[in-house]
Amino acid sequence: MPKSESEKERIISFPQMGSLYIPVCAALEAMGAKITLPPPNNKKTLSIGARYSPESICLPYKLNLGNYIQALEQGANTIIMFQAPGTCRLGNYAKIAELKLKELGYDFEMIVFDLYKGKFKEIIKKFNRATGNKSVAKALKGIKIGLAKFNALDKIERELLYLRPREIISGEAQKTYIKGRMLIQQAKTVEEASQAVNQTMLEYKKIIIDKSKDVLKIFLTGEFFVLLDTFVNMDIEKELGILGVEVDRQIMLSEWASQTLIPKWLRKKETHKERCVKTAKKYLTRIVGGECVESVGDAVYAAEKKVDGVIHVAPFNCIPEIISQCILPQVSKKEHIPVISLLMDEHTGKAGLITRLEAFVDLMRRNKQQQTANLALSGSV
Ligand code: SF4
Repeated sequence: MPKSESEKERIISFPQMGSLYIPVCAALEAMGAKITLPPPNNKKTLSIGARYSPESICLPYKLNLGNYIQALEQGANTIIMFQAPGTCRLGNYAKIAELKLKELGYDFEMIVFDLYKGKFKEIIKKFNRATGNKSVAKALKGIKIGLAKFNALDKIERELLYLRPREIISGEAQKTYIKGRMLIQQAKTVEEASQAVNQTMLEYKKIIIDKSKDVLKIFLTGEFFVLLDTFVNMDIEKELGILGVEVDRQIMLSEWASQTLIPKWLRKKETHKERCVKTAKKYLTRIVGGECVESVGDAVYAAEKKVDGVIHVAPFNCIPEIISQCILPQVSKKEHIPVISLLMDEHTGKAGLITRLEAFVDLMRRNKQQQTANLALSGSV
């Protein structure tokens, strides 16, 4: 006898964004879910997504839609989507994508996690609905291992960002990072995730670096998806590392996860967003959606921290980032810090991106030399 809709085994999928799949899969698997993952974002995903998307919609939507179609073709029947409100279009994406996919004839259920509604309770409820899990203890176990993996990934990623511009043999740190990421993915418990970090840190220690190298330091800020997905940002961090630049990415997955999952009253320190709202105040007095306030706040904070420059990345046509892009030249002028905005879309070419990065790195270097010369003249050095 064929199974009824309610008896059908759920096969879950969710959109790809950088390493997000590692902690999210760990959490879902701990709750007993069966998962099918779409391939990591690539040209094919984008071309499938773009074919069925309104032309002017932003890049993350096109990739998400491409992910859904690839996952549904692989047999997924349940799709998870994370949604946030505000002035950004993300609030409508789940609905638009669901309608489009139904119109294309796919049979599935979309479960939307509204990250700003009810927070923790809402998330547990949605996880249970998606996985069919009825035990709160199992749900908490899943969230715990997921959070541990978010933290583990960020630890080995931060070290990679430090080592890349300083390593003597180019590419060694990247290889170690990839092995470490695999170990974290394979970890079955919080302890194993922490062992994977320790092991990777020991491997990193074997890499020979030039500690005296004059490395430029930049803040990388901007729209969340572009910052975290290496296909969309064309591996900008790696390219900067090769150019001798240490990247301090301002949005890390673990902070986003704890900001989203851990209730405010349980958090011990100021979040990135809270800091940005304060530092951006001179230029922006209200939150306008997306990561606009973060982009402006990070640039001001970078100047306070005497960082060499700020690279702001965003998808072409992203409304909140169009606003920050208009404000950032003022921040650059008044706070005396070089800032560049790079907009990404399906037509952005890697060669053009590298040329712009090289020019910006030259500018930062000259700026730094000039500042050192000025200090020397004034007798401070
Ligand atoms: S922040 Fe920008 S790119 Fe991201 S979903 Fe909103 S409008 Fe699209």
